[in-house]
Amino acid sequence: MHLSVRKKLELEAIIGLEVHVQLKTKSKMFCCCNNRDDQPPNSAICPICTGQPGTLPLPNQQAIDWAVMTALALGCQINQESKFDRKNYFYPDLPKGYQISQYDKPFGFSGTLRLPIDGQEKTFRIHRLHLEEDAGKLIHPTGADYSLVDLNRAGTPLMEIVSEPDFRTPAEAKAYVQELQLIMRYLGVSDADMEKGHLRCDANVSLRPKGESQLYPKSEVKNMNSFKAIERALAFEIERQRGLWEDGSAPTTGSTRGWNESTQKTEDQRTKEKAADYRYFPEPDIPPIIISDEHVATLREGTKALPSDVRRRLREMYGLDEKNADGLVHDPGLEKYFEEVVTEFRGYMESAGSPDSARRDWEATKSRRSQSIANWLLNRISTEHRGEHGLPVPATDIGRMLWMLDQGEINAPASTQIYEAMIKTKKGPHALMQELGLEQMSDTGAISQAVQEVMANNKKVVADVKTGKTAAMQFLVGQVMKATKGKANPTVVQAAVKKALEQ
Ligand code: ZN
Ligand code: MN
Repeated sequence: MHLSVRKKLELEAIIGLEVHVQLKTKSKMFCCCNNRDDQPPNSAICPICTGQPGTLPLPNQQAIDWAVMTALALGCQINQESKFDRKNYFYPDLPKGYQISQYDKPFGFSGTLRLPIDGQEKTFRIHRLHLEEDAGKLIHPTGADYSLVDLNRAGTPLMEIVSEPDFRTPAEAKAYVQELQLIMRYLGVSDADMEKGHLRCDANVSLRPKGESQLYPKSEVKNMNSFKAIERALAFEIERQRGLWEDGSAPTTGSTRGWNESTQKTEDQRTKEKAADYRYFPEPDIPPIIISDEHVATLREGTKALPSDVRRRLREMYGLDEKNADGLVHDPGLEKYFEEVVTEFRGYMESAGSPDSARRDWEATKSRRSQSIANWLLNRISTEHRGEHGLPVPATDIGRMLWMLDQGEINAPASTQIYEAMIKTKKGPHALMQELGLEQMSDTGAISQAVQEVMANNKKVVADVKTGKTAAMQFLVGQVMKATKGKANPTVVQAAVKKALEQ
């Protein structure tokens, strides 16, 4: 008799992503209608984008340039001869009965996106990037037995970015979409706001036993309208499929599922048409698009400052760690401000010594000092003071104040007080320090008096330190800080305590 021992299946998730990005061109993809998304229903429409007979589409040069530029930013190869195709299907929000898209000659293909994931760089492959037009919107008023259609969105330019199935966890997928959002903003091609539908994400999910290389039937998950939704929907779908595998009923056909935000579940939707159902054929009203080497070179110029470049600069020039670099990369205004503040700070370093010694000092300490500056900015400047409104205090003043903090003229809590006072009064940090009486106490006479008192009151601790329990010294430093109401310079206190203990 044979005994069979059933091993628990070790499964891995295979995730591929399709991301649609709405480009913020002035006009739509094939007509001159306004492309803003805040207009009254059906007010930004014309015979072309409503699909009237006899009209002709005229491709938007800006949209094509931006699609090629984005493809370059994602390391794609460029099809120098590209074309548009008709994708035929019927839906009430698609007045022409077909969508102009790209079938076999997308603008970009075979790209990569490298991302730091948990301190390790991972590479995700991009399958293709193409350009197409969006459909209108259907509105279903609650309780009504009819639907409404708004064609403002019909014909607006959409970029579709299709990845290879390279993601293994929901966190990786989320990080990739977040990075795409950041890249769109850095390139200035889209606001990429998920809540407003500028950036939409669908995911293909399947599982397979670890170690296998074949792919199993996948489900396509739609309607994920936020980063949180991406993570939760994928986690749900992976667990759902894991249950099926463990019951011995792994999916045998593909399916389409929608993420339901209120139930936090994916639900079965209509089955997806196959590619052949769309009866793709070349768009007869638009000639092939030729993109010259020179034009590609010009567009490549626009991809010179990507989030990954800024991250690298922050690491190499300033010695920032990944967390601080990433914090600044996500806030380009604050990132620029950080560099201005550092320049100012270095100016004070130079005026305190010779340019040569200041340069050596900076090289030796830049990582520690830049980290403190970045930490201060990221932790103490509230989000309401960032973004489009600009920062409330000039970088020169913050640079001076952080120099004062570095030099021990003020301590950290005082820096926050001075910052808040600078916002209110528009005065400089030095004047405010004096006005508010926030000078750090560095007077060695007063400090050593406090040290003597603390030592006299803590004889046991002093004895402990002298017998080698050096950690107890911090207790004495803390007591002196307390005795001076927090205004003493911790470095001076440290030195004074040390000196007193040696006597
Ligand atoms: Zn139009
Ligand atoms: Mn599409």
